[in-house]
Amino acid sequence: MPGPRRRVLVLGGTGEARALAAVLAARPHLEVTVSLAGRTGRVADDDGRTSRRVGGFGGAEGLAAWLRARAVAAVLDATHPFAARISAHARAACAAAGVPRLQLVRPPWTPAPGDRWIEVADADAAAHRLPGLGRRAFLTVGLGTLAPFAACEGVWFLVRAATPPPAPPPLPGHRLLVARGPFAAAAEEALMRTHGIDVLVTKASGGAATAGKLTAARRLGLPVLMLRRPPPEPGPRAATPDEAAAWLEGVLPP
Ligand code: NAP
Repeated sequence: MPGPRRRVLVLGGTGEARALAAVLAARPHLEVTVSLAGRTGRVADDDGRTSRRVGGFGGAEGLAAWLRARAVAAVLDATHPFAARISAHARAACAAAGVPRLQLVRPPWTPAPGDRWIEVADADAAAHRLPGLGRRAFLTVGLGTLAPFAACEGVWFLVRAATPPPAPPPLPGHRLLVARGPFAAAAEEALMRTHGIDVLVTKASGGAATAGKLTAARRLGLPVLMLRRPPPEPGPRAATPDEAAAWLEGVLPP
């Protein structure tokens, strides 16, 4: 007789979380819930094999209570490298509830010869540097990070977002593109040429799906303002969905 299935929570909102959930869903001894929030929570992401919940838990305490109430046996935090708050809450909640937790953090991009990357601490620092670097910026930092760029005088923006914004971007001169990756380097180069882009602004998100813009910037010889990642949480970490799945197998053997 197989034992009861063990409950696993995947904190999602990324391609890696989707891939991980698909691997775990194939393991009959696991019952997998994927949690989504924010803009990614509105994107259809249901594979029919994992259950899905949407919205915040109410801080670390709310998450700890949620884990206890459902006897969750492990948490896999596969949120975006810039989603620092939920990762901090996951660590605190799992410590409080005594639940093993792993953070899946995709590897950062690394510069290649010819890259002109300028690392900055955050969007404020990027907005400060930007007017000295270019006049037509390709801005791919997410809709929640646009406000500081409103102060950049004389800079026009090509803004790309994965979902339509609730309100127009707060930038005087801009064009908005709503599109989801993956984006090929050749198409990124063509887009940047068409709009006369002379500087790229991006978060150091990592991942293949959005790396094409970096190749394009290199080919065009453009500077890249790169917003640094927040540090990952202490504790066990994996770089890929397969590594995360292997960790879980050690924690919850079949
Ligand atoms: P955040 O600042 O770290 O979290 C803000 C709050 O949103 C958290 O305190 C939590 O609310 C809730 N939350 C975030 N992710 C959640 C999840 N997967 N399940 C349940 N609640 C969650 O997060 P964010 O940067 O706004 O990102 C929101 C979501 O979008 C994340 O799931 C992330 O993976 C995805 N995403 C983010 C980025 C980015 O650049 N930040 C890019 C692509 C995708 P409570 O405190 O109420 O629990």
